Amino acid sequence: MKLNINNTFTSQLPADPITENSRRQVTKACYSYVTPKQTAKPELIHVSPELLETIGLTNQDAKSKTFLNVFTGNTVLENTTPYAMCYGGHQFGHWAGQLGDGRAINLFEVEHDNVNWKVQLKGAGATPYSRTADGLAVLRSSVREYLCSEAMYHLGIPTTRALSLALSGDQVLRDVLYNGNPDYEKGAIVSRLAPSFLRFGSFEIFASRQDTATLKTVVDYTIKTHYPHLIATSASKNTATSHQEAEINKQTYVQFFNDVATRSLEMVIHWQRVGFVHGVMNTDNMSILGLTIDYGPYGWLEGYEPGWTPNTTDSQHKRYQFGTQPDIVQWNLYQLANALYPLIEEAEGLEAVLANYATQKDIQYLQMMRSKLGLSNQEQLDANLIQELEDCLQLTETDMTIFFRNLALFNTTTPSQNLVVVKDAFYNLKEVSEAIKTRWNLWFESYAERLQRDPISAEARIKNMNSVNPKYVLRNYMAQLAIDDADKGDYRLIEELFNLLKHPYAEQPKHEKWFAKRPEWARNKVGCSMLSCSS
Ligand code: AMP
Ligand code: MG
Repeated sequence: MKLNINNTFTSQLPADPITENSRRQVTKACYSYVTPKQTAKPELIHVSPELLETIGLTNQDAKSKTFLNVFTGNTVLENTTPYAMCYGGHQFGHWAGQLGDGRAINLFEVEHDNVNWKVQLKGAGATPYSRTADGLAVLRSSVREYLCSEAMYHLGIPTTRALSLALSGDQVLRDVLYNGNPDYEKGAIVSRLAPSFLRFGSFEIFASRQDTATLKTVVDYTIKTHYPHLIATSASKNTATSHQEAEINKQTYVQFFNDVATRSLEMVIHWQRVGFVHGVMNTDNMSILGLTIDYGPYGWLEGYEPGWTPNTTDSQHKRYQFGTQPDIVQWNLYQLANALYPLIEEAEGLEAVLANYATQKDIQYLQMMRSKLGLSNQEQLDANLIQELEDCLQLTETDMTIFFRNLALFNTTTPSQNLVVVKDAFYNLKEVSEAIKTRWNLWFESYAERLQRDPISAEARIKNMNSVNPKYVLRNYMAQLAIDDADKGDYRLIEELFNLLKHPYAEQPKHEKWFAKRPEWARNKVGCSMLSCSS
């Protein structure tokens, strides 16, 4: 197994001088060195062939003992120094202080095809940031992270990736519903990859401690490494100042913030497009690269319900419900702005970025919804058409994925016949009363009229719609079925779903059974509609 190892993060950023693995507050450092825990009986469950190739490995490599041991933390490769990152975060609207990689350990960086990947294990043991928890992960949450990160990637949504899923062989105690009934579950380890695992909280922690020096170090590193185009732009605009100053200045920080805002908006608009609910959009779970990160109690909309969240920990306030995710990103960006402020000391530029986000949020949401409807041009009244559709979708329980996929078959010549076209999306046809049918038919008429004014052909529209409205998503119950089987040692469904979700927009006739509404047994089942942060 040959990997092109690199260590830019640890060589450019300050380390915690203490190397003992004890739980503590870590100051003036971006990470602490830590060795992953030895596991009882590591066993690989699944490896992603695409990601192996991405980092320059082969399927053959993945069969080696070294691969198993490295990607479960049992062997530390020579010349590598695993570490856990220090960060803080706002959790559910409140500053939570230091959080950090409590159960993630970065192994090393791999450079392949000119891309630098950070390789991280999730569930490989305690770190200085584990607080009161064990640093471990259970099989169910690991299957969910593994399958969903790859599903998101193939949907075309920016995300961290997952390379491997393994059992640790250890038992892990968890109280799934936090109701005083803890039980042992199988421990597991996912290896995940991203160009960076830095989060908004990686910057907030230093601002909260008034440690402007380390804040500047980590922000400058992030700009140089991940946003290098910003340096060239601002330098050319500042020819009058000395080269050193011109490299990264206040304007660069504002532009950096603007780029992060743009990427974060792009990410969340994709979530709204496919019906993905993250579940825990705390600022420690917001990637500085605008990647979907930390797959915990996430879920997929089945019935179109803007107020839905799968996270039982958030069931009272529903802060992270589907419909308000773009607003939450804005709130999180506001926290990032506060963290960057000490480097800029002027609010104006940051405020302008936030104001622009607020405007763009509505514009891009509207544009995304137009694409779901196959509209190729813009009309003033599209917002009304879309609002009325969203209202209709909530009149009775209506499956989001099936509705939009089947809408591509819309009959423009006889609008009133379209209830038949989308009828599979309704969970209970009996609930679709005459009044509701009338409302739908009115909408179908407006939509038909709108389509007639749209310049593209029906064929082009259908093709466009099928490229933005997925046929297959990782419905909550599908992941749970794969977990139930995996718990019994049967990994075939993981393999089936992994392959199915590589082509979410394609017709896959042999997999048609997964293009179906959630079965009734899954409606209120733990793991299917209800998930907690316990993982
Ligand atoms: P999350 O909301 O799952 O992203 O986690 C929030 C914080 O709790 C992060 O700092 C995690 O590293 C930490 N955490 C979550 N689960 C565990 C665990 N089992 N052991 C140690 N730390 C954990
Ligand atoms: Mg997290």
